[in-house]
Amino acid sequence: MSDSKPLGRVVVMSGPSGAGKTSVCRELKKHPRVEFSVSATTRAPREHEVDGVDYHFLDREEFERRVEAGEFIEHAEYSGNYYGTLRAPMERALAEGRVYVLEIEVQGTKQLRDSGLEATYIFVAPPSLDEVRRRLVARGTDDAAEIDRRIEIAARELDAQSRYDHVVVNDDLDRAIREVEELVGL
Ligand code: 5GP
Repeated sequence: MSDSKPLGRVVVMSGPSGAGKTSVCRELKKHPRVEFSVSATTRAPREHEVDGVDYHFLDREEFERRVEAGEFIEHAEYSGNYYGTLRAPMERALAEGRVYVLEIEVQGTKQLRDSGLEATYIFVAPPSLDEVRRRLVARGTDDAAEIDRRIEIAARELDAQSRYDHVVVNDDLDRAIREVEELVGL
């Protein structure tokens, strides 16, 4: 028997805002081998969000400096703000044999695929755009204009689903969670 650590691996969860990615991911966090990537963003923190836990909140200048320094494995502009995945924590988690989960939008996923990053790419799809709107309104974190922008982006993002390894339709959260756990081998 080998006493070496299991190999780490990456899971990329993507799909429109309001598809329920975060709810699915929240459950995955309960598995001890799972670690979540904390992205950097220039978006203003929402009321309950904690710097360093939900995101690393940066101003645009600092974000751009880190892009130049090569600190991100991908980054994208979404609804007027930058979002990006930091390289160093991912490399550390993989060396520790963790299942490292990224929750990102579709442009960033495309960059990772194009870069050749080996990962399980999962698209979490909403049952419909009407349902996305309903969820964004119920979440209460975005104003009406922002919700309209997110719906517009979601409609475009849905076109990307064929480029993923798996599509999980989140019409029933418990079922969607079980499906993802199975795909990821948790
Ligand atoms: P929100 O503002 O709702 O937190 O996030 C907006 C969108 O950006 C969501 O689809 C979310 O998954 C995505 N996102 C969060 N972090 C990253 C990241 O590091 N890179 C990319 N490309 N997208 C991200």
